[in-house]
Amino acid sequence: MVKANAYGLGANRVARALADEGCRHFFVATLGEALELSGILGAGFDILVLNGVDPGAEQACADAELIPVLNSRIGLRNWQREAERRGGQLPAVLQIDSGMSRLGLPLDALPALTADGAFRHLSLRLLITHLACSDEPDHPANSQQLNRFEEARRLFPGVPASIANSGGAFLPSAFHLDMVRTGIALFGVAPGPHAAHLRPAVSLSARILQIREIGPGDGVGYGLEHVAREPQRLATLGIGYADGWCRRLGGAGAARHAGQRLPIVGRISMDSMVVDISGLHRGALSEDSHVELLGPSQSVAEVARDAGTIGYEILTRLGPRLSRTYVDAPECRR
Ligand SMILES: *Cc1c(COP(=O)(O)O)cnc(C)c1O
Repeated sequence: MVKANAYGLGANRVARALADEGCRHFFVATLGEALELSGILGAGFDILVLNGVDPGAEQACADAELIPVLNSRIGLRNWQREAERRGGQLPAVLQIDSGMSRLGLPLDALPALTADGAFRHLSLRLLITHLACSDEPDHPANSQQLNRFEEARRLFPGVPASIANSGGAFLPSAFHLDMVRTGIALFGVAPGPHAAHLRPAVSLSARILQIREIGPGDGVGYGLEHVAREPQRLATLGIGYADGWCRRLGGAGAARHAGQRLPIVGRISMDSMVVDISGLHRGALSEDSHVELLGPSQSVAEVARDAGTIGYEILTRLGPRLSRTYVDAPECRR
């Protein structure tokens, strides 16, 4: 799964690294993402579009040899018409709603659609469904969805099938079927308590733009939301909400240095934020030093908790202004 710019990390480099490791199937969410990825990867890969084809874009999708995930009757009908117009068959992935009520054809619609020849001009490459609770390994919905999906699969003999996202990949092997669709786990973020042994693959540091001392009564940032009660040493960091660092982290989150927590004080600005470094000895940091926002001392999950969100949102928001360095760590290869 390399949608949303490979979870914010840069689809260009991430997809090419995955291709080097032997990955041949790449999922994105939109046609725009798929066209971009197709330019990055070149021929020889299956690029699958989760949100299907926007009405009117069927021709562009087929010309680019992209494979839509068909989620609705209308999407199915339009893709089938495009295949007829071309006088051949078009590849497709069919999504079935096994209980999440988000995307996919309902189970009970399938027998009639099959009988009506609704798939006649399609070469079905894969059947998929999506788990609502794969992050809760003991949730009864997981096996209920698997059972319903198995029922649907019987109508499409010989077509490969996939149910598991990252959370599902750590469920028992009955959930693995022909393909797992791992996203967040590729980047070392645990999709649930059953995958806590993953090692983080992403770190983020911010440069200190300025250091200052303030005294009792001095305010910090927009709205002067933080007012010092005692002398404080502050560092202004060059990352803000326009870089994807959520405003919710103002007064709630932190940066780290040498493992020590440096609380964010006041509101987060567009391009900067202020942290309290009073707890560090003088000289530990200077202007132009870097502090950690994500890394060994502060996980994606911790930041997500501080921001009242999930790790997926923290990663996918990491903005285009952040400079990205890719480290090929041989110790991570087997
Ligand atoms: C995003 C997505 C995935 C990947 O989910 P992760 O939890 O990141 O592994 C898999 N399948 C579908 C349909 C998705 O939309």
